[in-house]
Amino acid sequence: MWVEGWGDLPGQLVVVSGPSGSGKSSVVRAALESRRLNAQLSVSATTRERRAGEEHGVDYHFMTFADFREQQGRQGFLEFAEYNANLYGTPAQPVYQALQAGQSVILEIEVQGALQVRDTAPTAFFLFIKAPSFRTLEARLRGRGTETGPSILQRLKTARAELAEAHWYDHVLVNDDFDPCVLDFIRVLKENGCGG
Ligand code: 5GP
Repeated sequence: MWVEGWGDLPGQLVVVSGPSGSGKSSVVRAALESRRLNAQLSVSATTRERRAGEEHGVDYHFMTFADFREQQGRQGFLEFAEYNANLYGTPAQPVYQALQAGQSVILEIEVQGALQVRDTAPTAFFLFIKAPSFRTLEARLRGRGTETGPSILQRLKTARAELAEAHWYDHVLVNDDFDPCVLDFIRVLKENGCGG
């Protein structure tokens, strides 16, 4: 049901990827809070544990593996991926409806999911956010304090694989200085269908 027609909806679909620790969530949040973009953020589903401060239905739809598989089985996700032993997916229906109503939607997803979106919705705009160096990425990830040692190592390994995919994105932003990066993000999205 949700696999056709994604290429010609009036709203602009934007995919933002970047390694864990690149600061992409903070950049996206600051850009949306500035109200200078006419776009909304898709709320993903995930099987991972809720972190302190995260809210169900706001940050993620937190789900059991069984519920995730059930939604996946009825084609309920635009894309989905396994990331560090958990499943993540974009619920298709709300995104489709927003795009159909002419609203722009931002998906903040990892690269395996982005590749699936590229196949399903070729008119989407793909933006990659990275840290200025791998060393900075590691320091940010450790400083964030949300992950344990093994999880950090796993995320760093995944980050290397993700950085190798940056080349096919439409635009790459380097998050060196936060505020200029947010302004660049807003400018690039406005130039690519998310003005308002
Ligand atoms: P975190 O566990 O740090 O919230 O997210 C881990 C990774 O999963 C991040 O790169 C994040 O962008 C990505 N992610 C979040 N939601 C989705 C989703 O719906 N689909 C995919 N493919 N990746 C997602």
